[in-house]
Amino acid sequence: MPKTTRPAKPAAKRPATPPAKPAKRVATAKPKSVPARPPAPRRGKSPRRWSEAEVHEAFSRFATANPEPKGELEHLNPFTLLVAVVLSAQATDAGVNKATRPLFAVADTPQKMLALGEERVREYIKTIGLFRTKAKNVIALSQKLITDFGGEVPNTREALETLPGAGRKTANVVLNMAFGQPTMAVDTHVFRVGNRTGMAPGETPLAVELELERVIPAEFMQHAHHWLILHGRYTCLARKPRCELCLINDLCRWPEKTVS
Ligand code: SF4
Repeated sequence: MPKTTRPAKPAAKRPATPPAKPAKRVATAKPKSVPARPPAPRRGKSPRRWSEAEVHEAFSRFATANPEPKGELEHLNPFTLLVAVVLSAQATDAGVNKATRPLFAVADTPQKMLALGEERVREYIKTIGLFRTKAKNVIALSQKLITDFGGEVPNTREALETLPGAGRKTANVVLNMAFGQPTMAVDTHVFRVGNRTGMAPGETPLAVELELERVIPAEFMQHAHHWLILHGRYTCLARKPRCELCLINDLCRWPEKTVS
């Protein structure tokens, strides 16, 4: 019986390849799934889910480091918080604060905002992106608060989402900060941290929000939104995450983290 050896196609044809052992793996492993570019963070899947104990550990560390985390949008009451959040879409908190300080000094209620008028509001906020649309929304939401809610900011998601310029994220921030509800507002920072760490992978902000709500222990939910925003803003930066300073670097699943 003639002795046959394995087909020797790949090995024989790669003389220039450095002395690795390419043939077996290339021939038998999944050739299609090897990416042509460096591995990128995957949104849909994480290598391994965080265990309950790991999530608890992460938030225990955040809580120890910063027991009372605060949002950075300046406001005086629920109404000015609502306005500040509406203005913060696609803008930095610092930029919004700069514009709202003088605005809120003259208009800290829906009635005063309405009396100020769209044109003057526009002047106050003209340094913020999309200021024309936002000025229109601020006036319209002030009007609606007066007409439909007795001049008060409502404390339900359904009602908040009926206000011009206010979507789910705005509602979550207001419910959390003004009314102490354990909501999870997913902005760009929370979305990145949820996906990158593998704690709450999801293709959309809503998916990440629901996953975070599912995995975060109730005892941490009140502050979880701020801890994750601050973590994304100051540590887990989009371009150059500061993994060496990261409180949860041993728990993070991101393949590209710069610590092991
Ligand atoms: S280890 Fe790096 S990538 Fe992971 S959460 Fe920390 S800063 Fe972000």
